[in-house]
Amino acid sequence: SATIIDGAAVARRIRAEAAAGVATLDRPPGLATILVGDDPASAVYVRNKRRLCVEAGMRDLHRHLDGDVTEVDLAAVLDELAQDEAVTGILLQLPLPPHLDAASLIARIPPEKDVDGLTEASAGRLALGRPGLRPCTPAGVLALLDAYQVKLAGAEAVVVGRSDLVGRPMAALLLRRDATVTVCHSRTRDLEAVCRRADVLVVAAGRPGLVGAGAVKPGASVIDVGIHRGPDGLRGDVDFEAVRAVAGAVTPVPGGVGPMTIAMLLANTVTAARRLGQPGH
Ligand code: NAD
Repeated sequence: SATIIDGAAVARRIRAEAAAGVATLDRPPGLATILVGDDPASAVYVRNKRRLCVEAGMRDLHRHLDGDVTEVDLAAVLDELAQDEAVTGILLQLPLPPHLDAASLIARIPPEKDVDGLTEASAGRLALGRPGLRPCTPAGVLALLDAYQVKLAGAEAVVVGRSDLVGRPMAALLLRRDATVTVCHSRTRDLEAVCRRADVLVVAAGRPGLVGAGAVKPGASVIDVGIHRGPDGLRGDVDFEAVRAVAGAVTPVPGGVGPMTIAMLLANTVTAARRLGQPGH
């Protein structure tokens, strides 16, 4: 049966490397997280990001704004952080309350400080294969595949999902690594048959248990990005118990991709500090 990919262990190693990177800088990088309102899930995510940022030796430059903040006031905060030399990375926690336009606010983040990799500039750099900060979750998937020495050049890779946050940048990253990439989405015909072609199958559909054993080629590497909170705890988009009997390697949920996202955020912040060449770096 399949190798269980230990995302917690790989994430721990990447956080330790980020901490070692911080130690080589003359001045600690500063990570500005911005939380708008009191969405409990977002509050937990931001708290974990801040905790691990401090653990890696970075400065926690958090801003918490009221849920009824105006777009003008939030834009002013982003502009101030963009100018501030103590700020290396800016992370605007999503989703924002519905009265705020996320796209135009994200656009105020300078690409050099875009540690979430979500600006148009970062997406364009990824699409064109130029240096830039990559979105954390797909970058984390790639780091997991590399940690387990999964061969990508020439491999058939299938990505299920085409969101701006996960699926689309995932496909671009795999393409840059010379995989033959197929992207599936809600209109794909015969999803199982397409997935069964994959040597590397990345599932980010947001549908619990969507991918079962019948969608997996024997020996394939299966990465489950989905996270769903159910009565018996967390589960993913992949039917883990069924798929582990067929796959060569598979990520569990929790303990697979989940811990990688914050680890890559820390890695991106170190990269941003080096590239910004902030005074003393
Ligand atoms: P999304 O809803 O924005 O996008 C889902 C994509 O899947 C869409 O492109 C849609 O076309 C496709 N899709 C939906 N149903 C499908 C089906 N039946 N067959 C084929 N394709 C289908 O979601 P997202 O933001 O990309 O997130 C996907 C999942 O990953 C969610 O469960 C989310 O919670 C999780 N997630 C996890 C992390 C992490 O850190 N591990 C980070 C981001 C998202």
